[in-house]
Amino acid sequence: MRAKAIIHLDRFKENINSVKTRIGQNRQICVPVKADAYGHGALQIAKTALTAGASCFGVAAVQEGLALRKGGIKTPILLFSQPCPDEIKDIIKADLTPFVSDAEFAVILNEYAAKANKKISVHLKIDTGMGRIGCDTKDAKELAAHIKKLSDLILTGTATHLAVSDSTNVNDIEYTKNQISRFTKAVNAIRAAKIDPGIVHAANSGAVILHPNAWFDMVRPGILLYGYKSFEEYTAPVAQLKSLSKFKKIISEPVMELQSSVVLIKKIKEGETVSYGRTWTAEKDTLIGVISVGYADGLPRLASNRWQVLIGKEYYPLVGRISMDQCCVNLGKKTNVKRWDEAVIFGSPDHDDHDASSLAKITGTIPYEITCNISKRVPRVYKR
Ligand SMILES: *Cc1c(COP(=O)(O)O)cnc(C)c1O
Repeated sequence: MRAKAIIHLDRFKENINSVKTRIGQNRQICVPVKADAYGHGALQIAKTALTAGASCFGVAAVQEGLALRKGGIKTPILLFSQPCPDEIKDIIKADLTPFVSDAEFAVILNEYAAKANKKISVHLKIDTGMGRIGCDTKDAKELAAHIKKLSDLILTGTATHLAVSDSTNVNDIEYTKNQISRFTKAVNAIRAAKIDPGIVHAANSGAVILHPNAWFDMVRPGILLYGYKSFEEYTAPVAQLKSLSKFKKIISEPVMELQSSVVLIKKIKEGETVSYGRTWTAEKDTLIGVISVGYADGLPRLASNRWQVLIGKEYYPLVGRISMDQCCVNLGKKTNVKRWDEAVIFGSPDHDDHDASSLAKITGTIPYEITCNISKRVPRVYKR
C-alpha cells in the first residue's frame, strides 16, 4: 500500500492514562484536537479520548468544532483561538465555548446570543506572559464582572497559557512560576469579588510534566498525548529537574506511525546519480529501493540524504532528494528487502529513536509540525 499513517489508538489511551496517573483522578483532561488532532484525525481521537475519560476538547477553528459536533461529540468544546465576528453564528450553532479576552468581544458575543435566544458558555482568558490572546492580569476581575453582567453569557471557566513550560532552563522555570502565580492571584481576585471562575486551567504538556502548581482543575496536554515530550526530559541536568517539585518521568509513546512500501527495486551503477538535483552519486554498484512517499505526503524535503527508513529490522538511508511523491533508499549491493515490502518512515513501536521527534530535530522543527503536516491524501488507519 502507498503511504498511510497508522494511528495507534491503544497507545493514545495509554498516554491519557499516564497523564491521569500523574495529575490525579480528580482533575479533568481537555484534549486539544485542533489541526485534526495534530494530524491524527480529530473525530477518532475525540471518540477514543472519551472512552479513556477525557472531559472536553480544544479546537482552534470554528469549523473544527462544527465537524466534531457533526460526528456526534456532545461534550464541551473549547475554542482556543480568537474568532472573527462572522464565525459567531457557527459558534452558537455548534455550542462551542470561546475564550474571551476583552469586553468588546464579550458584548458582541452577547448580542449574537440574545438574537439567537441562546446562552453561550465562555472561558475568561488571562494573558500572564504568553503575550498573545488574553486580558491583562490586573483586568481579569473586572472582565469577569463584565461577563457576569451580560445576560446571555455564562462564565464556565478561567484559563491562561504558558510560554516556556516545556523548558528546563532555570530562567524559563522562573518565568513559568511567575506566570502561575500571576494567574493564581487573578483567579483569587475573581473569587474575592464573589464571582465563580468556573473550571480553572493552565497546563499544556510541558506543565503536566514539569509544573504541578499549574494543574488546577483541568489540564490541556496536546503533544504529550500524541506521544512526544515537548522537552528533553532525559538530557536535562538532573539538578534542574530536582528543583521542580514532584518531578517524575512520564511515559508517552508515539501514536502515529508513517508507513509506505518499496514499490520498485533497481540496480544502479557506480557513478550514477539519484533524483532531482543529482545530490547523491553511487560510490559503487548498488540497489536502490523506490518508496512511495514524498514531501506532498508530509515527509519534509529537508530530510533528503539525512534520514533512514526502517524495512524489516534494518535501517536504510534516504539517498537523493525527496520528491513530491517518492523517495529512494540505498539497499546496498545485496539485500533481503523485497519489492512491495513495508517501509516505516517514522514512529514504529520498539524503535524509540526513529520517531517524529528525531525527524524534527534533523529538519530543524518540532514533532508538532511533523505530524500536523502529514497531508490529507495519506489515509489514517486506526489500530485499537
Ligand atoms: C495547543 C494548545 C495546548 C496544547 O499544547 P501542547 O504543547 O501540545 O501541550 C494547550 N492549550 C492551548 C490554549 C493550546 O492552544
